Amino acid sequence: MGLLWLGFTAWGAFDIRLGYFISVIYKKKTKCKKIAITFDDGPTEYTPEVLALLKQYNAKATFFCIGKQLEKHPVYAKQIIAQGHQLGNHSYSHTSKFGFFSAKQIEEELKKTTAIIEKISGNKNYYFRPPFGVTNPHIAQAVKKTGLKVIGWNIRSLDTVIEDETKILNRIVKKIKPGGIILLHDTSEKTVRVLEQLLPILQEQKYQLQDLDKFLADD
Ligand SMILES: [Zn+2]
Repeated sequence: MGLLWLGFTAWGAFDIRLGYFISVIYKKKTKCKKIAITFDDGPTEYTPEVLALLKQYNAKATFFCIGKQLEKHPVYAKQIIAQGHQLGNHSYSHTSKFGFFSAKQIEEELKKTTAIIEKISGNKNYYFRPPFGVTNPHIAQAVKKTGLKVIGWNIRSLDTVIEDETKILNRIVKKIKPGGIILLHDTSEKTVRVLEQLLPILQEQKYQLQDLDKFLADD
C-alpha cells in the first residue's frame, strides 16, 4: 500500500525506516533467534486462516489492526487475543488522506482505535504503525500526545504488491536474521499461502516468533 504514497508530494512523506520525525523501532538488536511477525490492515476474513497456521507452529504475532476493521470483525479480533497474540493500532480509517490530517485529527484516530483495542483485549495498547509506513510532523505530534511506540519493520514482504508467492517468500527468507520485524498483511489468500511456507522454514532455522512485548523485552 506504500505505493499509494509515490504520488504524494506533501512534506514529510518519508520512508518509515528513516525515522526522521519520530523514533521508530524497526528491528531489535539481539543475537537471540527471535523474530516479530506483524500483520497489517486486518482483521479480515483471512485472519482466521492466519491464526490457524500460527497455532499450528506455536508462533505468536502482532496484528496492526485498522479501527474500522476491528468494528467490522470483532469476533476475529477476539480470536487474535484468545490465541495469545497482540493487537496494535494502525489508525481508525487507514485513509489515503492520513498524511494530510492535522495533528488533532490523527490523535483522534489513534485514541479511537486504542479504545477499541483496549476494550477487546482488556490490556493497554502501546504500539502504533502508521498507515503506509509514513511519518510526518503531525503524526509525530499525535504519537507524542498518545504515548504510543511506533513500530516499523526491516523485512518488507511486499505481499500486497508482488503477485508471485515464491518471490514474496524468497524476499522474506533472504532477509531473516535475529531481531527482524516482518511486515505481512492478513488481507489475502496469497499471504496465507506464503505464511504456510514461511513458518516451517522459520521453525527449521530454530527461530522463535514472538509478540512485540516479548520481542522488545531484553533477552
Ligand atoms: Zn496498512
